Amino acid sequence: MESTVWLASRSLPRPGVGCCNLLSRVRRSGGRLKPCGNGRKVVVCVSGTEGKTKVVIVGGGVGGLAVGGRLAKEGYDVHILEKNSHVGGRLQSLEVEAAVGVGGKSDDPGGQECFRFDTGPSLLLLPQKYRDAFTAMGEDMDDYVTLKKVEPAAYRVFFGEDEGVQSLDLLYDVQKMCLQLEQVEEGAGGAFLRFLANAKEALDKDLYVGLTPYNAPGVFSLLAATELTDGVWYPVGGFAKVRDGLAQAAQKVGATITTKATVKRIDHANGQVQGVTLEDGTFMRANIVVANADLPYVYNSLLGSKVKTQASKLLSSKYSASVIAFQWALSSRLERLSHHNVFLSNCYEESWHRATDASTILERPNFYVHAPSRTDSTVCPLGTDAITVLLPVAHLGEGFSIGSASDDKQIVEAARERVISSLVRSGIGDISSMILSEVVYSPPTWQDSYNLQYGAAFGLAHNLLQLAYFRPDVAEPSIKGLYFAGASTRPGNGVPLVLMGAKVTTNRILEENYPFLSGN
Ligand SMILES: Cc1cc2nc3c(=O)[nH]c(=O)nc-3n(C[C@H](O)[C@H](O)[C@H](O)COP(=O)(O)OP(=O)(O)OC[C@H]3O[C@@H](n4cnc5c(N)ncnc54)[C@H](O)[C@@H]3O)c2cc1C
Repeated sequence: MESTVWLASRSLPRPGVGCCNLLSRVRRSGGRLKPCGNGRKVVVCVSGTEGKTKVVIVGGGVGGLAVGGRLAKEGYDVHILEKNSHVGGRLQSLEVEAAVGVGGKSDDPGGQECFRFDTGPSLLLLPQKYRDAFTAMGEDMDDYVTLKKVEPAAYRVFFGEDEGVQSLDLLYDVQKMCLQLEQVEEGAGGAFLRFLANAKEALDKDLYVGLTPYNAPGVFSLLAATELTDGVWYPVGGFAKVRDGLAQAAQKVGATITTKATVKRIDHANGQVQGVTLEDGTFMRANIVVANADLPYVYNSLLGSKVKTQASKLLSSKYSASVIAFQWALSSRLERLSHHNVFLSNCYEESWHRATDASTILERPNFYVHAPSRTDSTVCPLGTDAITVLLPVAHLGEGFSIGSASDDKQIVEAARERVISSLVRSGIGDISSMILSEVVYSPPTWQDSYNLQYGAAFGLAHNLLQLAYFRPDVAEPSIKGLYFAGASTRPGNGVPLVLMGAKVTTNRILEENYPFLSGN
């Protein structure tokens, strides 16, 4: 894989015109010139394709693909290394074959007998940020991904006591939304308008300007503002379309992608990055390394002891929850579900404590259900359903009990039982007899699949002191040439933020390094 060319001094012409010609030729093609010895001898090192600055990216998640594509477009020689057999990281779609005879053909002209699940992101917010990522690679997102607005409601919320679970739709139509809220509680409509106006104003200013511990709580209302103003969108064909689109666009501008390539170590010496060593022992020299894998894992497993302080600081940071996820293929369609559904517990305060074992999962926990066939007919055969349930639980660092495989099994069983009984209470239907197939993700799955520290599905938490500028920087100051991209660096977690972060990382690299080695 090494493409460095060394021209030893004996291969140089005599000093004089010939030598100068060679030097300027090398400079033009981007070679690095390093005088050594008595001044007559010159060692020329040309790294990467045609003398381009060589960048290795550790991880092919959204962050890695977006930075890789941007840098390739700028003229860098980019190699993205992904440990799994697919790029995309947490952003994935999973297809499960339907049992023979289940459901009718979908009304999609292509038809299919598959159930499709988005195992990571399911809400596509701030579509412009996705568009920007493609534009930065010189591509048009519409050539890769078709977005459809989730309508008429952004999502449906189920709440209330056992005797009367109610539902409320988060409608884009503000007037209808106010009327609906007034029916639940007098005065709630006006309060909603004030809330929305404040959130919108903050959003229009800038997502991150003014974020201090004194005014940051308002930041969380931005989510609601973007859902109701920009809308919630869905990529037709599933989130895999976003994954494949980003990968294809990055490859088109020259980035190479290697899957099943696990990086064992990021090599550095004397404060300078040198490259990476793969699990099979291969060393890949690089001028720049961008680590897209989860940052706490990078510091603790890939960088060695030189960065001990930052490594242990990250370990003791606050982490997001983990989740138990169920992907269920169902023999019937659940008519009361909307595309996005939130089920709220009847025990408000208790419900925010993260469950650590089977006994601490509430009878009626908070959970989310994704049912995308309401927007996209290619999700499952007609008359059936494909739903994903996400139930937040503790991460592995805060006592999630996995002493043995049977512990994990018990928690998953309790989670399944509580979700199903909550669905029954909410009038969705008894799905226990409808489940044709099930795929489960629990905290150890998140840890093992993507090297997420503690199996925390969303990485470092978004508390006020870990958001935007308070999140770890996109470069490691003590190792020149080492940069970061992804959910646990600035500005934060979630695909749009990771895409915004990719721009920040790219700009930093452009400021500090030339795409051709002569400028380094
Ligand atoms: C269940 C769930 C639901 C979510 N819902 C939403 C949503 O609705 N909307 C939204 O916008 N966001 C959502 N997110 C968040 C979103 O998925 C992430 O913010 C985003 O995908 C993170 O991308 P990333 O590039 O930072 O990291 P990752 O996706 O973690 O990518 C890092 C990559 O590095 C690879 N890697 C790790 N170690 C190595 C190694 N040693 N060598 C080589 N490769 C390595 C990993 O395999 C992975 O592919 C959700 C996440 C989860 C888990």
